[in-house]
Amino acid sequence: MKKKFVLWTAVLFPIYAFLVYLYLFHIAGTGVPAAYQGTAADPSTFMTAKELELSQEFSRYKDFLFFIGIPLEALIYLGVLVFGLSPIFKRFGEGVSRFSIIKIPIYVLLLSAFTWILTFPIDYAERKLSVTYGISTQSFSSWMQDLLLSFWIGTLIMTILITVLYWLMNRFTKRWWLYAWFLLIPFFIFMMYIQPVVIDPLYNDFSRLNDPMLEEKILNLADEADIPAERVYQVNMSEETNAMNAYVNGIGSNLRIVLWDTTLNNLKDKEVLFIMAHEIGHYVMDHLYLNLAAVIFSSLIGLYIAYRVLHVVVRKWGAGWGVKHVADISSLPALFIILSLLSFASSPAELAISRGAEKAADQYAIEMTEDPKAAVGSFQKLTVNGLSDVNPPALVKFFRYGHPTMMERISMLEEYKE
Ligand SMILES: [Zn+2]
Repeated sequence: MKKKFVLWTAVLFPIYAFLVYLYLFHIAGTGVPAAYQGTAADPSTFMTAKELELSQEFSRYKDFLFFIGIPLEALIYLGVLVFGLSPIFKRFGEGVSRFSIIKIPIYVLLLSAFTWILTFPIDYAERKLSVTYGISTQSFSSWMQDLLLSFWIGTLIMTILITVLYWLMNRFTKRWWLYAWFLLIPFFIFMMYIQPVVIDPLYNDFSRLNDPMLEEKILNLADEADIPAERVYQVNMSEETNAMNAYVNGIGSNLRIVLWDTTLNNLKDKEVLFIMAHEIGHYVMDHLYLNLAAVIFSSLIGLYIAYRVLHVVVRKWGAGWGVKHVADISSLPALFIILSLLSFASSPAELAISRGAEKAADQYAIEMTEDPKAAVGSFQKLTVNGLSDVNPPALVKFFRYGHPTMMERISMLEEYKE
């Protein structure tokens, strides 16, 4: 099995990487469709030739890393199983303690650390790329701190979830997926609730808006939509990046509208107001709650499929991997492979729904502000500052874009004018 795994990986992975390269750099067209040429959505009308060239290069390299990274994680987990590392991690945990309250966290930590090290080159390449193209301005040590911080936060949360999950698997052989889902619902709600006040501030500084004049304009806008004013924040990102962004997150009393300070520094007030109106649109249309509902619903389906598939997989290959039964913690890499395949398979549908919501928020914003010039200007500046791809290849849009392309967004705003 080991030989087979190494052989197939050594043959198929390079072929896959080569096909991705061919598609991104040679097959996919990058030109602007005739219908958009010369309009505000045509990047040559608001970017210099150099910027345009850099944005194309930068985006292609980023896309390449993304597509290479997709099968990598599943391959690492499969390697852990095939090479018998999983029972070794488990025995190590048992060596420390026989109690699963300690044994499982040690197993999760070892597996996470192993995966983290093997995927580090991709993370590093992504950072290097962003620095080379002048987007990221974060120092290596600060970047590394953030990366390690997310490793520990992720591992901590994962440990809790996995300990509970395997306890359920041991107790309820046939219904664990259902009980796990019942427990996940309050967990998702709790995580969404604490995200803006507990997790996000670990990475960056959040504060009220600095500019009182702009704040008043924003508050007026928020007032029109009945949004409590204290939910507008700025986050200090200019020490890390030149890119601009804004978002809404959290739920209930922790729901927040956040603007990166780069957005505030680079856009005119009218343009910031358009971006704000877009975020208000998400708030008004309850996109966060709809998203939460979708996550809860899809996790039920995901858990059920994982339950069915995991039983089959362990019955068939478990013995060869040293995995005794489904509720044996060493089956975790197999569960992760199944979940990551499911999440990959469902991502195009999720992204398409997200693009629909983003389009609705753009529409809301333009109707609220009635200022197409500012709206178009804000998106053009967002594109230039982030060197983003105005018109990405079809597969990139299909697998990566949670927003409509800038070409679609700008031309939609332009049409509003007519
Ligand atoms: Zn949005």
